Amino acid sequence: MEERPLWAPWRLEYVTGPKGDAGCIFCDAAADGGGEMVVHVGERTLVLMNAYPYAPGHTMVAPRRHVPSVTDLDDAESLEFMALTQRTLRAAREAFSPDGFNLGINEGKVAGAGFADHLHLHVVPRWGGDVNFMPVVAGTKVMSQALDSAREALRAAF
Ligand SMILES: [Zn+2]
Repeated sequence: MEERPLWAPWRLEYVTGPKGDAGCIFCDAAADGGGEMVVHVGERTLVLMNAYPYAPGHTMVAPRRHVPSVTDLDDAESLEFMALTQRTLRAAREAFSPDGFNLGINEGKVAGAGFADHLHLHVVPRWGGDVNFMPVVAGTKVMSQALDSAREALRAAF
């Protein structure tokens, strides 16, 4: 578990933004196949950037099927889910040279899932002392540029 809080002011938009019936970001991304935040779409699984990242290069791996739990995945989905998680880590290592990663799944709103109805695994690159530079990257404009370049670097590494 995370021991120190990350200061991520761009998440305010998400935390205070509209919730509910706005559709599913994972299904939308899988459906159009080339959405702005999409890094990779596999046969059963996709990888996309988190628009409200905890850290630069924060991505999510999700099944293409709209299911809430790891227990809903069949064997083929489970295999591709883990295979794409491995591929995401390899690509992120190449693109961002992090010192480590946080990998995590929140199941259910009570566990912190922002999109509880569609399973997703967070891949968050970490660097030694990264909480110290986090305030430096604050700000919507800076972050959207960081997102674009992070996505391009990841796509290239995939
Ligand atoms: Zn969905």
